[in-house]
Amino acid sequence: VSQFEGITMAPPDPILGVSEAFKADTNELKLNLGVGAYRTEDLQPYVLNVVKKAENLMLERGENKEYLPIEGLSAFNKVTSELLFGADNPVLQQQRVATIQGLSGTGSLRIAAALIERYFPGSKVLISSPTWGNHKNIFNDARVPWSEYQYYDPRTVGLDFAGMIDDIKAAPEGSFILLHGCAHNPTGIDPTPEQWEKIADLIQEKNHIPFFDVAYQGFASGSLDQDASSVRLFAARGMELLVAQSYSKNLGLYGERIGAINVLCSSADAATRVKSQLKRLARPMYSNPPIHGARIVANVIGIPELFSEWKKEMEMMAGRIKSVRQKLYDSLSVKDKSGKDWSFILKQIGMFSFTGLSKAQSESITNKWHVYMTKDGRISLAGLSSAKCEYLADAIIDTYY
Ligand code: PMP
Repeated sequence: VSQFEGITMAPPDPILGVSEAFKADTNELKLNLGVGAYRTEDLQPYVLNVVKKAENLMLERGENKEYLPIEGLSAFNKVTSELLFGADNPVLQQQRVATIQGLSGTGSLRIAAALIERYFPGSKVLISSPTWGNHKNIFNDARVPWSEYQYYDPRTVGLDFAGMIDDIKAAPEGSFILLHGCAHNPTGIDPTPEQWEKIADLIQEKNHIPFFDVAYQGFASGSLDQDASSVRLFAARGMELLVAQSYSKNLGLYGERIGAINVLCSSADAATRVKSQLKRLARPMYSNPPIHGARIVANVIGIPELFSEWKKEMEMMAGRIKSVRQKLYDSLSVKDKSGKDWSFILKQIGMFSFTGLSKAQSESITNKWHVYMTKDGRISLAGLSSAKCEYLADAIIDTYY
């Protein structure tokens, strides 16, 4: 009998489990709209040209594979905070940002959660309802208490701004408010600039600490600067805040695990101390982060020709998703004879669209139409091609009614 007899079977991950089920399906019509990973019009994975160029450069230079310091590659840390705040942002000149390289968005969120657990015992994190499924896991694992704020209004398939404000107002003073910097996952619904201002007012008033998750910079609007405007708006008010960054989507570096955690503090002295503690948290968890992705990012952002080429490629990716979004809307509008207004699909931004399909309907569309999606009704438009829009529209309408 095994010593591990007491260990029960864990449930499959609600997002990554979808890909496993997709692989096992032998039907030719199958469509994987589960995981948020960019695909070409032929539904193949895509490696950006700038990434290949940066890798070639790295080979030519014959760089070694020595350990990085605990905080990661310094050239990476410099450019990642510049990309986020803007290179000329006074908060950088004033050295008020503690930045360490993280294991992509997830690992960076996890380090921040560990910082909260250690230095803000009992403080709560407020997360949007709904949110990316892994947020709850991350805070649970770090033993950080969390609760939800209202975000999604099923009646309008839009933002429940009043509900959001009420819940942030009701949270105990000094809570951490987790905000999606842009392209909210899973809803694709972002606050307007005016709403961001009101959110910032309230957070300041309540002495809460904003905690941004920026996993899609450049992917929402196609512009890196515009997608960072929420974070920059808060920073310009002199607020302290946390930002987790990921290069999985915007540089297609999913498997390289490259991202960062930034803590903007009110003084350079506080930032130095925070950084020392971030390193102390990272050391026993994974010692130091991987070097390959960090070098790619440092080169792409740091070399002007590569940087401008990256922007073009990102516009191309964001553009393909936008055109698929439009085509899906058109197909739904033409095929649906009920008069239902599908325009909410066009209002959503980023990789995802919330369809409004229920859990049971999400299961049924998989079983009958071989369309794989998460059970919350989210589809990844990055995994859809123009050629497949009509098929998907048929499947959605058949499942809806
Ligand atoms: N936050 C959000 C909101 C996300 O959607 C994702 C990716 N799905 C992540 C963080 C982190 O992804 P990664 O760890 O690959 O950077």
